[in-house]
Amino acid sequence: MATASGQYDHHTISAAVKKAHAAALNRAGGRNADYIPFLAEVPSDLCGVAVATADGAVFEAGDARFEFAIESISKVFTLALVTEEIGPQSVRSKVGANPTGLPYNSVIALELNHGKPMSPLVNAGAIATVSLVPADDTEARWSKILNGQSSFAGRPLQLSEALNTSEQSTNFHNRAIAWLLYSSGTLYCDPMDALDVYTRQCSTMISTVDLAKMGATLAAKGVNPFTGERVVSESNVRHILAQMMMEGLYIASGDFAYTVGLPGKSGVGGGVLAIAPGKLAIAGFAPPLNEAGNSVRGLAAVASVAKALDLNLFAG
Ligand code: GLN
Repeated sequence: MATASGQYDHHTISAAVKKAHAAALNRAGGRNADYIPFLAEVPSDLCGVAVATADGAVFEAGDARFEFAIESISKVFTLALVTEEIGPQSVRSKVGANPTGLPYNSVIALELNHGKPMSPLVNAGAIATVSLVPADDTEARWSKILNGQSSFAGRPLQLSEALNTSEQSTNFHNRAIAWLLYSSGTLYCDPMDALDVYTRQCSTMISTVDLAKMGATLAAKGVNPFTGERVVSESNVRHILAQMMMEGLYIASGDFAYTVGLPGKSGVGGGVLAIAPGKLAIAGFAPPLNEAGNSVRGLAAVASVAKALDLNLFAG
């Protein structure tokens, strides 16, 4: 039930989160990502759901405190940082703001678009976005990104050394993407430095509650509702949410818009995030992924909360 301010009462949100967790547990299918060896070892039966509101309340169910790999969801927060640093017009002209219609690690998408990544939320675009972080060296670049992620979460986040080692020693496909970008003139620092930092940014560990809080900062127009810190300017939030709507769930972004109607983002660590602007963020986590690389149970959980709270943006 919505109050006059457009917010939801706590009992309603809490019930929606519990119901979503039960609904997600009922969903079978999918497989852990295994092209990153670390991810194949995460217990497949974990499942967490959390909501964080724009006015600073948190609701959770299941394994919402278990820490998992942020992976591609990190792309949103580096995009926010770079949008602040170089402005939205520059992001759009250098990286793009359109769906690729192809898988997140597609080389063909780059070839078809003369080396322009099209979206900062696919691997090519995210590596290019990392290269646009103004920094003197690799460590400064990484520290800006990790600090940015931490500001969104409202606590100091950390990289998993085990995960980072697992990714750095197997990321050959992404290396090819970095060199292709470089050869097209669409990468703005040393390719292997950009890839190193991109791989680190994917290796940060977050809980489902962290993820919901990170999203709540976007839902609250760029101010972290838990710390009061302005993390991204209000006028940039709309561009970030638009990018999430276009490409946040890769080739299933259209399906997500059609069924859930919210800007979202997923990662191969099993996390799924959706933002109801001005209201709240929903986070779901479960390792098994569908063919598009999105968490089966995470998607079910997020969709269930969005439906229970009637959050579809296109509903009027
Ligand atoms: N680190 C992963 C990769 O680069 C992230 C991909 C994802 O979460 N979709 O392949």
